[in-house]
Amino acid sequence: SAKQAGRNRYQFFSEQLQEDANSMMEMEQDLRVSLEQKQLEVYYQPIIDSRTLCLVGVEALLRWNHPIHGIISPDRFIPLAEDTGMIGVIGQWVLETACQQAGQWITKGYNLYLSVNLSGRQKSLGLDEAVLRRILESTAFRPENLVLEITEGMLLDNSHSTIEWLTSFSRMGVQLAIDDFGTGYSALSYLKRFPIDILKIDREFIRELGHNTQDMLVVKAIISMAKSLKLRIVAEGVETDEQLTILQSLNCEFVQGYLFSKPVTAHELEKSFDGFNQGATKQPV
Ligand code: C2E
Ligand code: MG
Ligand code: MG
Ligand code: MG
Repeated sequence: SAKQAGRNRYQFFSEQLQEDANSMMEMEQDLRVSLEQKQLEVYYQPIIDSRTLCLVGVEALLRWNHPIHGIISPDRFIPLAEDTGMIGVIGQWVLETACQQAGQWITKGYNLYLSVNLSGRQKSLGLDEAVLRRILESTAFRPENLVLEITEGMLLDNSHSTIEWLTSFSRMGVQLAIDDFGTGYSALSYLKRFPIDILKIDREFIRELGHNTQDMLVVKAIISMAKSLKLRIVAEGVETDEQLTILQSLNCEFVQGYLFSKPVTAHELEKSFDGFNQGATKQPV
């Protein structure tokens, strides 16, 4: 009967929900031990000067090497880490690890900056000026070489404490970038209230560049606005030569994407360093 079918379907959905809940709890428990079991790893993706094609920076991107499920994408476990508060410890570990690694590259003579994604939850989970200063000192990493990537959503929280929090990093000499620019709420007024240095254009706008006039105009407008506000600009998700050529013609300063490299392990990146245009990159420190 229809009633029976309905009940079965309900039962199916409720079992499905139960399964999802179980696997979430399992994932949460697994994530709790992931750090000590050394399953987390920081990958790095090159950021390239569009004019010289020199490597100018690297973005740290977290990976979870799960013993059963293999590599799990940060899009799946970062939200869980945020909900459970684990992002506090994990985020600081990423900062320490990436500063340590990028510091070694800089010492070897590669003149690059390090970009690290920040979660808004870290504000109430222990990351403050003193902690960041300690991380930079213990890894001998200069604040000028660090960029913290924040999202537009974080800036919607116009509270005094958020402005203070980000401004305290900026005062240390650390730069702030807006990640995925253009996908959030884009209340552009925040650009005045927060000490922003860099805009990263979301790959949503880059994907159809060359085939979509609308996207072209949006990217052009963002670049022109960034220039008048004296912000630096990075285009994310550059995959084709055509996209690169257009971005070069629009004077987009920096580019990042699979065209140059996917995010790779520190070891892999090191091997490919010399494959990137060296020109101005390798400089005596
Ligand atoms: P995001 O910061 O916007 O990072 C860029 C994402 O785009 C990365 O995904 C990168 O692998 C991907 N990507 C780069 N170039 C291309 C391209 O040419 N084509 C395509 N299709 N994709 C490209 P990933 O590594 O999976 O990271 C996803 C998101 O997870 C990040 O987006 C960031 O928001 C978050 N995340 C990663 N690591 C951390 C972390 O340490 N802390 C925090 N709070 N969030 C992180
Ligand atoms: Mg990012
Ligand atoms: Mg992004
Ligand atoms: Mg993103």
